[in-house]
Amino acid sequence: MPDVANILVVEDELAIARAVAVRLESVGHTVEICHDGLEAVEVFAATKPELVILDLLLPGIDGLEVCRRIQTDQRVPVLMLTARDDETDMLVGLAVGADDYVTKPFSPRELVARVQALLRRAAESVPSDTEPDHRVGSVEIWRASRRIRLHQSEVHLTPTEFDLLAQLASACPRVLTREQLLVAVWGYRDGSGARTVDSHVRAVRRKLGDDVIRTVHGIGYGLGDI
Ligand code: CA
Repeated sequence: MPDVANILVVEDELAIARAVAVRLESVGHTVEICHDGLEAVEVFAATKPELVILDLLLPGIDGLEVCRRIQTDQRVPVLMLTARDDETDMLVGLAVGADDYVTKPFSPRELVARVQALLRRAAESVPSDTEPDHRVGSVEIWRASRRIRLHQSEVHLTPTEFDLLAQLASACPRVLTREQLLVAVWGYRDGSGARTVDSHVRAVRRKLGDDVIRTVHGIGYGLGDI
């Protein structure tokens, strides 16, 4: 069993929020409830919970935006609640920074099982003293556990952003063309969609700093410190 955790439940339907909280408290967790997206971001910053259960449709800002804001500085496991299966499919497609999804209606027992699984997984991926596979300036990359740290703090990349950075790290000191990256990361073989590469490079730079990926004009991209 994972240790007990502080959990933030963000859900505007009071009955659901209460039911979830009661169940989590019954297995020893401490629960804070928010009914509103903006409030959730503030409470998150103040209380630094170890896990967040986040409804997709909220007053204020929606669950997607809450997820984005709370993941900016540090990685926290997020379990997303959706009202319909197709919303879940959409979220998986968008690769938002959630770790798991539960579609309403769900049983509180099922939800607690998912929470325990996420806490276990988070405990296993706690930074160890193993050497990173790659270092680029202050950025450290662990391939197997798909972890990134910047100045010793964990940073969350989407799966695609991680794959892009990992490809560049493996190729280093070679520079890769956009076409090579499209094939390696996205599996595209017709050379279209170079802008997809550019937009993901921008996303990685926003999170890790402009220096981490270097633009080689007329060729493509390489890792920063070479
Ligand atoms: Ca809702």
